[in-house]
Amino acid sequence: MDKPKYEIGKVEILMGWVCNNNCIFCSVGHKLPERTIKPWKVVKEHINYGKRVKSGTISFSGGEPTIINYLEKAVKYSKKLGFKTIEIQSNGRMFSYMDFAEKMVKSGANRFLISIHADNPELGDTLNRVKGSFNQTIQGIKNLNKLNVENLRFSVVINKLNYKRLEKITDFLLQFNPLGMHVNYVIIDGHAYTYKESIMPPRMSVVAPYIYKAIRRVKKEGQDKEIWIYSFPYCLMQGYEFTIAEMGTMDSRLIGPDFDVSLQENRHKFRIKKESCKKCKYYKLCLGPWKRYAKMFGFEEFKPVPGKMIEDANELMSQDYKF
Ligand code: SF4
Repeated sequence: MDKPKYEIGKVEILMGWVCNNNCIFCSVGHKLPERTIKPWKVVKEHINYGKRVKSGTISFSGGEPTIINYLEKAVKYSKKLGFKTIEIQSNGRMFSYMDFAEKMVKSGANRFLISIHADNPELGDTLNRVKGSFNQTIQGIKNLNKLNVENLRFSVVINKLNYKRLEKITDFLLQFNPLGMHVNYVIIDGHAYTYKESIMPPRMSVVAPYIYKAIRRVKKEGQDKEIWIYSFPYCLMQGYEFTIAEMGTMDSRLIGPDFDVSLQENRHKFRIKKESCKKCKYYKLCLGPWKRYAKMFGFEEFKPVPGKMIEDANELMSQDYKF
């Protein structure tokens, strides 16, 4: 593995291309038929790498890491090496088995990022394409609540079927007392690309007002509650800039079954700004939209914002946001 270019805050290990859901917007859905699972000794090396680069967080994802039989071993080993944060990214279904949820917490997992994209079983199961999966996820979340997991987060993928319900979904999820919500515009790859006609949300400028409502709802619940928005450029997030997830310079290293990338480098490679962006006050911080998105929808909705060039993300964070 190369010497990292950025300071690494998190090493995320994609353990394999296997999943017990079959989400219609899954950006790695085309990989799942391979059913590739990384051998434990390789994952162990990745955990060692995380330690070597002094990453505070080690994260296990997939596919679905909870159906890989050495996850407990991986969590225990990470704890032994002293990672402050040990994260499991999951659809949460396996946590509906209390003994399994308990085992993960006892082994040392202390941050749970649960993918959930709906506020009712009909919509949830339609998106996951597994009957009963939504209710199982909810039971999993309830079990994590019972186990007093503090660092509980939800990851919501915005798509054609749920974007108008974003505030309702937020409202529903807040009952489980998460620390934060991560809201992602669908990544146009894998199943999302194959089924784009049925699943692509409208352009970001149409979706943005629904996101503002969700942000206000989260902040109404508690000013310390977090909500992070992925993939939206600043010009569409004015007044809500503090929620843009890709703001700082801290990097995450993503190690998959067949790739190893820096998320920061990837963003610079696959996102795009135009000549007109040079006049925008966010130019130095902004990554622009994904290239594939711009190819699909054009660039007209991204308009340079006049004003003094912002040099440092901290300038935005010191603004007095009130909701
Ligand atoms: S740099 Fe371009 S994409 Fe980014 S906020 Fe400004 S106009 Fe929008």
